[in-house]
Amino acid sequence: MSSEQKHHPFGPSVMRRRELCPASMRLEEGLPSQTSPDAERGTLIHARVAEMIAEGSAETPSKIEGVTEDINELASMCYDYFLSVTGDRTLPEKYETERRLQYLIGGQVFYFGTADVLILTQYEDGKQSGILIDWKTGYKSVEPAQDNIQGAAYALAAMQEFNLAECEVHFYNPTLREESSYKFKDRGALENHIIGIYNTTQKADIQPVPGDEQCRYCKAFQQATCPAVKKELEVIADTATKIEGGIAKLPDDRLVEFYQKAKIVAKLEGVAEAEIKRRCEESGVCGSYRIKETSGGFEITNIPAAFELADKLTDKEFLDCCKLSESQLKKAWAKSQKEAGRYATQKEAEAAFQQFFAGLRIPKPPKKALVMKEDTKALN
Ligand code: SF4
Repeated sequence: MSSEQKHHPFGPSVMRRRELCPASMRLEEGLPSQTSPDAERGTLIHARVAEMIAEGSAETPSKIEGVTEDINELASMCYDYFLSVTGDRTLPEKYETERRLQYLIGGQVFYFGTADVLILTQYEDGKQSGILIDWKTGYKSVEPAQDNIQGAAYALAAMQEFNLAECEVHFYNPTLREESSYKFKDRGALENHIIGIYNTTQKADIQPVPGDEQCRYCKAFQQATCPAVKKELEVIADTATKIEGGIAKLPDDRLVEFYQKAKIVAKLEGVAEAEIKRRCEESGVCGSYRIKETSGGFEITNIPAAFELADKLTDKEFLDCCKLSESQLKKAWAKSQKEAGRYATQKEAEAAFQQFFAGLRIPKPPKKALVMKEDTKALN
């Protein structure tokens, strides 16, 4: 494998797919990558967090094109998480963003990938400890850190490069407000596990195993070249015509099977729609479709300037037009309390925020998502 490639076919970010569907390594080979609005949103959030970390502040205006208020808020939550990881909410001494990490076997690159944040702490005895952070921006939960092969692969590469006895991996998703961390210690076990996955991908007769998680970003799925997905399409089309008495009458096992197959193929609609839009953008039409552009409306992001201009409104009238960001208020309030000497640290002030504003913090309706039964495997 060449280390000149931008993305490694067995890199940490695709390793979960290789684990769940080893044939994906063969079936993705040579296929082009496709972007999507979600992927572009994720790229912007990552870039904005890296910019905040470089500036040492979440307040400096962004120079990145396309950063909206929402992106800024999500990135600011990541920045906040970054500060909280080291405990004292100050910039760590030694850190890098977008750090390429590679794992070598016999001096050859076995895989490489880019870690969002790498923090190294040097102890007096010369030893170092490592912390890796990976930002997740999607709408689905990822595996907890202790079972997460992507995090394990980054940790293994960092442990090798910096001769670390252990490496802590954090995942943080501002969209879902989910976090998970784990300290990996056993290099040998990680290496064996990862080599085991790689060896399975190399079996010539290995067959694709479709599933929601592994197919989601697979190029063989996006290009509709995977034979297993094509088969699922046929099954779902066939089953849909034969359901007797409707969905409500299906027994649990058939309902779950139908749901899982339908989930996979439903995503093809989005993939096909994105491709039709791309062709329309390129040449005006695609079959009977064309792009119809309608106004996206307007937004005012500069609230202080709007406040100045709206001088005939009372403060209350103006505030009634604004939407409050709970996380930004928490940060600003905690900062002011700390500066006023009421709390020793930002973290203490943030904890106090919850008490202080308790009467105003209305819980949002709980999110109800279907999840599979717990997988009990552990990587380390
Ligand atoms: S589309 Fe799904 S089943 Fe097919 S190769 Fe990719 S991950 Fe495997």
